[in-house]
Amino acid sequence: MTTVGILGAGQLGRMLALAGYPLGMRFVAYDEAPEAPAGHLLDLTVAGWDDDSAIDAFGSSCTLATYEFENVPVAAVRRLAARIPVFPSPQALETAQDRLSEKTLFRSLGIETAPFAPVDTLPELEDALRAIGLPAMLKTRRMGYDGKGQRLLQDVSDARRAFEALGARNLILEGFVSFERELSILAARSTRGETVVWPLVENVHRDGILRLSTAPAADEGGTLLASAARIVSAVLEALDYAGVLAIELFDRGGRLLANEMAPRVHNSGHWTIEGSTTSQFENHLRAIAGWPLGSTETAGCAAMVNLVGEIPDPERVLEIPGAHLHLYGKSPRPGRKLGHVTLVKPDRAALAAAVSRLAGVVREQALQR
Ligand code: AMP
Repeated sequence: MTTVGILGAGQLGRMLALAGYPLGMRFVAYDEAPEAPAGHLLDLTVAGWDDDSAIDAFGSSCTLATYEFENVPVAAVRRLAARIPVFPSPQALETAQDRLSEKTLFRSLGIETAPFAPVDTLPELEDALRAIGLPAMLKTRRMGYDGKGQRLLQDVSDARRAFEALGARNLILEGFVSFERELSILAARSTRGETVVWPLVENVHRDGILRLSTAPAADEGGTLLASAARIVSAVLEALDYAGVLAIELFDRGGRLLANEMAPRVHNSGHWTIEGSTTSQFENHLRAIAGWPLGSTETAGCAAMVNLVGEIPDPERVLEIPGAHLHLYGKSPRPGRKLGHVTLVKPDRAALAAAVSRLAGVVREQALQR
């Protein structure tokens, strides 16, 4: 029997386990936090990422491992990878953890990005501002998520304050992209090199947190999907990748710029649980186990609404035809992702009507665009 070890035991780990049990897989997870959503359904090791003996013992308890959290220290992943196969590779994780190496990889593959420059000192920031211009985004290179660790610079006087606030080193300055839409592309590549791509997803964020994903994104003639598929395939091949990879994209006038990648299952792919023949979670597991991948065919269209900060009345959500409720077992806190709702409908008009009804229930202004 295959026992999969998951580093991180948040909702992504929980949904991985839920997708893998029907395949006969067993799961164990490792996290620093004892109160983790996946901990409700599997054996959880609670220990620090620097606890070598706990990592070694965890490695002895599983056949292969993956991670659901992209800020896992690479040293812990490398230590585990010395004992058992770990996918995606530590190299893929290391690249994705640093915005500079990620954007440098995109550029080396001919993938367009916002202009960017590394910033470690104030003179470097001044040079970068001269080269890139304003407005611009100053970001920490590492450990950023859900919009944390970044500042929008509108004029030069913002720059010094933002530089200090972000830690005064290991930063990256990016040109501000006035995009029409934010999109994401998700793909899975197996250890045997088989690759599948899901339909393009359109995402709406508020306060840096994903609120709404809709799939397939409107895409006249499928040209955007074709270029997004080329982008994600180039990265998968370059990293000899195994597992699900998500790339966040900006759509500027029909041209795609890559913003960042996540070497794991991704929030903008949760709709695939009900909306696609094979979910991102199942294909991630099939990919890392070296099994054939499942179809990513999507009948109709789907929307995923994140439940952030508060949990709506489940009965009111489930009254909406086609609504599927997922709660992660987390206690409510402002800005915390507590669950999501997926709506699947035969066409866009029916989907828009259901999303607006759901918006009334979850009081989510970002959905009422
Ligand atoms: P990130 O952490 O890079 O995913 O950024 C979080 C959000 O900030 C993105 O989803 C965008 O809405 C916005 N953002 C990030 N970088 C840029 C940029 N260079 N230009 C415009 N908006 C950006």
